Amino acid sequence: MIVAKRKPFEEIKGMLKGYKKVLNIGCGTCVAVCLAGGEKEVDVLTAELDMARKLEESPLEIAKITVERQCDREYMEVLDDKVKDQDALLTMACGAGVQFLAERYPDIPVFPAVDTTFIGVNQGVGWYEERCRSCGSCVLGMTGGICPVTMCAKGLYNGPCGGTNKGSCEIHADQPCAWHMIYERLSRQGRLDMIMDIVPPQDWQNQIPRTVIQPGYKKPEAA
Ligand code: SF4
Ligand code: SF4
Repeated sequence: MIVAKRKPFEEIKGMLKGYKKVLNIGCGTCVAVCLAGGEKEVDVLTAELDMARKLEESPLEIAKITVERQCDREYMEVLDDKVKDQDALLTMACGAGVQFLAERYPDIPVFPAVDTTFIGVNQGVGWYEERCRSCGSCVLGMTGGICPVTMCAKGLYNGPCGGTNKGSCEIHADQPCAWHMIYERLSRQGRLDMIMDIVPPQDWQNQIPRTVIQPGYKKPEAA
């Protein structure tokens, strides 16, 4: 899932300075699961903003809603009537959701309430770890299911580097060396020969916006 964390309250309040009527929009998917921008978090932030602006004697008329997904047009329609009279929109969705919202309502300022952080896994309640940087050319099949882009401090496709030390990365003793882990995993699976395969320089695909159209689906403009 996409993992995000709420921005500092003062930053959010600062973005809304001068606006009198705001709709706070949560997202019911990734950011809800990682406890950053779902219905509960929308309730809390909305109440905090309401209270803070009252104390500043600059009341904010703030409404709230949480949609199933802000990255999916189908779930955005419910907002069309609600945004009409708003001075600004605050969204607790990930960066994709924020942009999709801004694209749908280009005449209304849209502000992000969370910082989108990474694609990760849930290790426990409120504890998330990064696992993927969506490089666009996954090599996990060669690396025992351990991502060298994410887990290696240098993002090396051919490792380890000379800094590996008894299982730790040279950047810190508490940081496991990704390539040590890859070695151990491949060894355990009897596939250690794979570590000798040289991965060629990558054609980085995540430096420009990408589009995926699944086989069997027409391009939207051709539909
Ligand atoms: S190799 Fe690329 S796509 Fe695969 S997990 Fe790592 S960053 Fe993600
Ligand atoms: S020590 Fe290991 S994790 Fe650290 S940069 Fe070198 S190969 Fe990557």
